[in-house]
Amino acid sequence: MPPRTYGEIPGFPPGSQFTNRERLHAARVHRPLQAGISGGADGADSIVVSGGYVDDQDLGIEIVYTGHGGNDPATKRQVADQELVRGNAGLARSELEGFLVRVIRGAGGDPLYSPHSGFRYDGLFRVVDHWHDRGKDGYRIWRFRLESAEPTTEVDDEARSPVPRSRSVMHRLMRRSELAVEVKLFHQHQCQFCGIRLTTPAGPYAEAAHIRGLGRPHDGPDEIGNMLCLCPNHHVLFDAGAIYVDADGTVRETVTRAAVGELRTLPRHAIDERHLAYHREHYA
Ligand SMILES: [Zn+2]
Repeated sequence: MPPRTYGEIPGFPPGSQFTNRERLHAARVHRPLQAGISGGADGADSIVVSGGYVDDQDLGIEIVYTGHGGNDPATKRQVADQELVRGNAGLARSELEGFLVRVIRGAGGDPLYSPHSGFRYDGLFRVVDHWHDRGKDGYRIWRFRLESAEPTTEVDDEARSPVPRSRSVMHRLMRRSELAVEVKLFHQHQCQFCGIRLTTPAGPYAEAAHIRGLGRPHDGPDEIGNMLCLCPNHHVLFDAGAIYVDADGTVRETVTRAAVGELRTLPRHAIDERHLAYHREHYA
């Protein structure tokens, strides 16, 4: 197989129609003939959303996508746990690397957003989150949240409701960055896991991390009880579920369960333990 191509395939802009999987394969818009995810350990470059999994949620510019494996294609029900391998590992890799993923919708998907027949290339999406969950059928599934990376969607939304929407979005983003600044100042830019404080010519650097994600379906609150001040390394490891905070405040590696640190807390920055528990349950 030739190397994976990320991004748009020349000659096939968003909206391109394909009668079947063979055509998608020939155009190299989505190469596998059966798998919903085109991906491996190096990353994932495309997915097909066609209603093959009961836990999929298509919200238009946002998709909560179920990983592959453990699925009976005849009934579309889960019959075994899913693992973070093959295409599932590929989507997680694309999230880490920021690779863009082509999204193709098929006729079997949510009727609101899917073509009436065949398949349609619907543009580039970014993987913004992945976690495991118990699916409707009781087995472990991996879930991926993808958001449209197409610049036009933003404009379309604005056109539909110009003033209230942009105002509320602006307000929310401003509040979020104010909270981030506040959390970092509380800790004087020291990582709450390792205590490191990065200094640059422009001043200290740290990142504010949300413990429970803000987007659907986590719906974590945008407040400082749901935030941590972390160094970039620990921010990445925490978001990826590589480390977690135990109920007693010990910071542990997910795979080995080895203690790597102690959560540093301050009386004026109370962290809500329920959010740490949510992170443990769904990411670690
Ligand atoms: Zn750190």
